[in-house]
Amino acid sequence: RTETPPLRARAEIDLAALRANVRALRARAPRAALMAVVKSDAYGHGAVPCARAALEAGAEWLGTATPEEAFALREAGLHGRVLCWLWTPGGPWRTAIEADVDVSVSDLWALEEVREAAAAAGAPARVHLKADTGLGRAGCQPADWPELVAEALRAEGDGLVTVVGLWSHFACADEPGHPSIASQLGRFRAMVAYAEEQGVRPEVRHMANSPAMLTLPEAHFDLVRTGIALYGLSPSPELGTPADLGLHPVMTLKASLALAKQVPGGHGVSYGHKYTTPGSTTLGLIPVGYADGIPRHASGTGPVLVDGKLRTVAGRIAMDQFVVDLGGDEPAPGTEAILFGSGEHGEPAAEDWAQAAGTIAYEIVTRIGSRVPRVYV
Ligand code: PLP
Repeated sequence: RTETPPLRARAEIDLAALRANVRALRARAPRAALMAVVKSDAYGHGAVPCARAALEAGAEWLGTATPEEAFALREAGLHGRVLCWLWTPGGPWRTAIEADVDVSVSDLWALEEVREAAAAAGAPARVHLKADTGLGRAGCQPADWPELVAEALRAEGDGLVTVVGLWSHFACADEPGHPSIASQLGRFRAMVAYAEEQGVRPEVRHMANSPAMLTLPEAHFDLVRTGIALYGLSPSPELGTPADLGLHPVMTLKASLALAKQVPGGHGVSYGHKYTTPGSTTLGLIPVGYADGIPRHASGTGPVLVDGKLRTVAGRIAMDQFVVDLGGDEPAPGTEAILFGSGEHGEPAAEDWAQAAGTIAYEIVTRIGSRVPRVYV
């Protein structure tokens, strides 16, 4: 364990839990390769340490949104396959080819830029053609697929492109039984079959994110792309808790109690006085706020474990701090407050904060700000 200094706040990242999640996920999709999705700084957990741990535990692929995120992995000396999928015109395609990073192509403009970059680099780009099978976001529409496939094959014939992947993304995999799931799967199979009939020989066909990976074996294909499950969180309450899914939450968010003080009843608390003490009590100051990614929407509802007792945010969450009503207890300043974690000490889960803030656990961990140091344990 690395030393954990007495900080205002810290996000402890349990890499052993992450490795255990990788192994658990691999066991659930034994025939597919595993991509650790480490975009957005590994959902706030720290991209390089998490990517390294995931590769050590058996993941073969890393996935990022932006090319810069992918290049940072290479700069850190990480090997393994890397795919990045969020491209805009004029993007660093040539750097991707030179950094041995796979790229996603949804459209002819991107294919044209890839060709030019490959010609300049003197080496082919490894391309994953992305199909929009119903998400309505990135990806090639079925009507445009024949032209994209034909152009990709022409570029392959010119030695500028190797089509290594055919892929798509689900819209509603976190709602088991949603009719779009079957229709997206059917469309993906048809689009893959068409591309293969035309002569595409993909190394990997892939469609599953964490919820599809956990609930839909027929969507595993050759590769599963898992993000949230890797970090030990449930994709949605409908799928159960992390424990139900055999996952271990990786991030524990802690803060040091900054102050505990006695106040009389009828005392307004924090901006707008949205909370008034019901009687004489003690107030505790937790020195993290929305600048640290604590959602202001959880004002009055967010749960915190202080000195072994569950408390609730009293009044509004401010930029750098919020208050809890300690009900007369007076723990010493410096006492550890746990906002969320694995539940091992009775602390809330990231999912509880998501519910308190009306959002998803993905957003809770991803938004924990850079002012909160990540401490790897
Ligand atoms: N694949 C793509 C294209 C994504 O954008 C994401 C994240 O949103 C994932 C996979 C991983 O999703 P999840 O975190 O639900 O596993």
